[in-house]
Amino acid sequence: MKQILLLVFLLTCSLFIHASGPSLNFEEISPGIFVHQGEHLDVDEAYQGDIANIGFIVGEKAIAVIDTGGSLAIGKELKNAIRKISKLPIRYVINTHVHLDHIYGNAIFKEDDIDFIGHVELPRAMASRKGFYERTNLKYLKIPLKKSIQIAPNILIKPNESESFDLGNRVIKVTGYPVSHTNTDVTVEDIKTKTLWAGDLLFIERTPVIDGDIVTVEDIKTKTLWAGDLLFIERTPVIDGDIHGFIAVIDEILKLDIDQVIPGHGTPTKKWKQAFLKEQNYFKVLRDELRLAIDNDQDLQLTIDTAGRSESKKWELFNVQNGRNINKIFPIMEWE
Ligand SMILES: [Zn+2]
Repeated sequence: MKQILLLVFLLTCSLFIHASGPSLNFEEISPGIFVHQGEHLDVDEAYQGDIANIGFIVGEKAIAVIDTGGSLAIGKELKNAIRKISKLPIRYVINTHVHLDHIYGNAIFKEDDIDFIGHVELPRAMASRKGFYERTNLKYLKIPLKKSIQIAPNILIKPNESESFDLGNRVIKVTGYPVSHTNTDVTVEDIKTKTLWAGDLLFIERTPVIDGDIVTVEDIKTKTLWAGDLLFIERTPVIDGDIHGFIAVIDEILKLDIDQVIPGHGTPTKKWKQAFLKEQNYFKVLRDELRLAIDNDQDLQLTIDTAGRSESKKWELFNVQNGRNINKIFPIMEWE
């Protein structure tokens, strides 16, 4: 019996060691630009908080972090990786957008002299998703509700505007976008190496996503509906992701004078125009086929089963994500 207990104990220990995992791998893709690539996993049973690309840029005087991962644990590993490479102060933390896999490491960087930078809509978008994200982190990452800490940006970037930040002989330019992947997208351009950190405005390998996180919560006892961003009172309603906006934003990015792009998910690439065109093509196929389906009075389920199918071999996680995109876009396009 004792031996069995010991065996169970040892097995548990080895599982624990495995679960805490090796430290994250960061690659220096250009001098001073370090990127860790997340895995292509869906936010479901296998989700481990490490599916997005995260990283940092090191100047002569300071460091900027771009996206912090899906949990404090990932944020901590990111910070450890930075400290192994440089002792310079971390001056900025930039969130490319609101999605949970990009923001929940923020709190590890909460110090007085760190500025958090994000889209002007990001604080509101974070707040409206807070409950849903806390429950998602509890369900899949086993993080207690109170330990899913959001840190909203204090420096806000408006759509179609840019602001530059100097890391010491190294200027980075943060640009805000109109509604596209979400209503909170910004990119970061490292002028020195002509590198664009695209956030989820670019998916490589993994199926592109049109935001669809909005859920409602109903409190049965009081018959209260928490409507999230499905209902705006006083304030002008905003949509949270837009296929036409996404297609248009890609046209704008294609005009940039850059040499390489770090996507929000997937492998950084110098063949960046090709990558954006491939993504844009997916959205154009989807848009055209949804239009056709709507014109033919086809119902949503049949459309989910059929639209965009010619793209299915080109992308990972296609079946689940393409359906979600259609679920999001179809009802909006019906009104156009
Ligand atoms: Zn995203």
